[in-house]
Amino acid sequence: MSLALDAITFKYRGTTRPILAEISLEVPSGTSVALMAPSGAGKSTLLSIAGLLLAPDSGSVAINGTRRSVRDGPVLLGKEVGWILQSVNLLARRSALDNVALPRLARGARRRNELSHAEELLGAVGLHGDLQRPARKYSGGEAQRIGVARALMSSPAVLIADEPTANLDLATARDVARALFGAARERTALLIATHDEAIASMADRVITLETSAAL
Ligand code: ADP
Ligand code: ADP
Repeated sequence: MSLALDAITFKYRGTTRPILAEISLEVPSGTSVALMAPSGAGKSTLLSIAGLLLAPDSGSVAINGTRRSVRDGPVLLGKEVGWILQSVNLLARRSALDNVALPRLARGARRRNELSHAEELLGAVGLHGDLQRPARKYSGGEAQRIGVARALMSSPAVLIADEPTANLDLATARDVARALFGAARERTALLIATHDEAIASMADRVITLETSAAL
C-alpha cells in the first residue's frame, strides 16, 4: 500500500465547520483514485494534506507504510511525492528533455543516464522525436505531458495531480489524462482531483467529496 489517509479532519482557521471530516482513503501502488467534487468542496485541501504541504487537525498520512507529517514534506517533495498542477511552469528556454531531467541533474545524478530516463518517460507520455526544442514551442497539452514526465522522473511513491488538465480543451485533456494514467500505472499511487467525469472514470476508484461537509 502506498498512500493511506486515515480519518483526516481539517478546518480553516476562522471558519465554523471542518471542510474535511474523518476522510480515509487508500491508494495502493500502481493504482489511482480520482477525487470528484464541486468547486469549494475541499479537493485541493485534501491533496495538500496528502502531499505533506498542510497539516491536518487530526488523522494521519502514511506513505509506503510510514507515517509522515509536514515536517517530512521538504525532504520528500519531488522525490517520494510528486505533484502535477494545472499550470506546469516549464523553463521556457530549456528543452523538453532538460525540463524533465534537470531536477535530477541538480542532485548530481549521472547526466547520460538521466537524459535517457527522461527520454523514456517523455515517450511514455506520448512525446517522441525532437525533444530538444525549447519548452515554449510546445502546445498546452504537450507541455502538460512534459510536466507529467518531470513528476515521474524521481519514481515517486505518490503522485498528486490537482486538476492537471483544467486548462486544456476537452479532447486534449482526455488524451493527456490517458497518458498520465498510463505512465503512472507501473508503481505509483496516483491521487487526482478532476471535474471531468470522463477523466475520473479512467481511475481505478472514484471518490466523491460531499460539499455539505463544508457548510
Ligand atoms: P479551486 O476550486 O480552483 O481550488 P477555490 O475557489 O476553492 O479554487 O480557491 C482558490 C484559492 O483561494 C485557493 O488557493 C484557496 O486556498 C484560496 N481561498 C479560497 N477561499 C479562501 C478563503 N475563504 N480564505 C482564504 N483563501 C481562500
Ligand atoms: P476545491 O479544491 O474542492 O475547490 P478547496 O480545498 O480549494 O476546494 O477549498 C475548500 C474550501 O475551503 C472552499 O470553501 C474554500 O473557500 C475554503 N478555503 C480554501 N483555502 C482557505 C483558506 N486558506 N482559508 C479559509 N478558507 C479556505
